[in-house]
Amino acid sequence: MINKVSVHRLVSFKLKFYINNAEVLHLTDKIYVVGHKSPDTDSVTSAITYANLKNALGMKEVVPAAAGDLNNETKFLLDYFKVPYPEKLTDATDKMLILVDHNEMAQAVDKLKMENIVEVVDHHKIGGLATGKPIFFLNEPVGATGGIIANLYEQSKVPISKEMAGLMMAAILSDTVLFKSPTCTPRDKVAVEKLAKIAGIDPMKFGMDLLKAKSDISTKSAKDILTGDFKKFDFSGTKAGVGQIEVMDMADLAPKRAALLDEMKKMQAAEKLNMVVLMLTDVMKEASDILFVGDAAAAQGFEKAFGGKLANNSIYKEKVLSRKKQVIPPLEGAFKK
Ligand code: MG
Ligand code: MG
Ligand code: MG
Repeated sequence: MINKVSVHRLVSFKLKFYINNAEVLHLTDKIYVVGHKSPDTDSVTSAITYANLKNALGMKEVVPAAAGDLNNETKFLLDYFKVPYPEKLTDATDKMLILVDHNEMAQAVDKLKMENIVEVVDHHKIGGLATGKPIFFLNEPVGATGGIIANLYEQSKVPISKEMAGLMMAAILSDTVLFKSPTCTPRDKVAVEKLAKIAGIDPMKFGMDLLKAKSDISTKSAKDILTGDFKKFDFSGTKAGVGQIEVMDMADLAPKRAALLDEMKKMQAAEKLNMVVLMLTDVMKEASDILFVGDAAAAQGFEKAFGGKLANNSIYKEKVLSRKKQVIPPLEGAFKK
């Protein structure tokens, strides 16, 4: 039977393994925990909270990083809990990385080599990672990486501070759009309940404040909106970029629609993509207007994926909130050869 002591030993053993690994690789004395490019709240807070856990377990060389500029929601959150912003990491040359909230090279920091990945903690589909040696790889189908990390604190018997609890709670609320997304699981709700108690916060009230911060597009250009939450995918050879903007009222985006389509066209050309998709998600109406720009073959696949005809460069879908569960899988299916 596994008791508390043996769980702790297991964690300590793993810890030693990573330290040894770092020495063998002679790369750097630091290990960065980092999420995906166009970092969202889950990516940034997972880096911070997981580095904090590693530090508490004695791995002082582990530091959090963000693979780009922080969005308004994340800034609001870190300011609220007075947690310092992590350093920005955009080039992984000669660096050892723990990936959180992603596992696809297309979404990772530039110039990352697979052999420099020491761990992965994530909640997305597995997207083609291949390593030369065994690594710690934890992927669970839950609403956010934050909940997985909260469990790791529990398993390691490391007490969760008010600040770390607030960050992990916010990550779950943000990724699950206040539990409305189909990616939300009962475990996410349990985790939020526990973390909210430690943070001393009303989760739903705080969640609305997060959402307001996230959906404030008043100061954002069309380019900011497109690149703020943007991920690249390869659907059987069709190169795609899929962005998402979540707002509390889709009408706020209407005046920017033409400019957004323009930016999407520019992005398609500059990044040599077959298509660029942007989900305009109304979290109150629980629907998305899915904008499309791309070549003819991609348009055909897009229409097949969403079972409709493109009108005015988009297909409107009720009840679609999640890129991961409701947009990427149908696209993948439509382009499968
Ligand atoms: Mg994310
Ligand atoms: Mg996430
Ligand atoms: Mg998201």
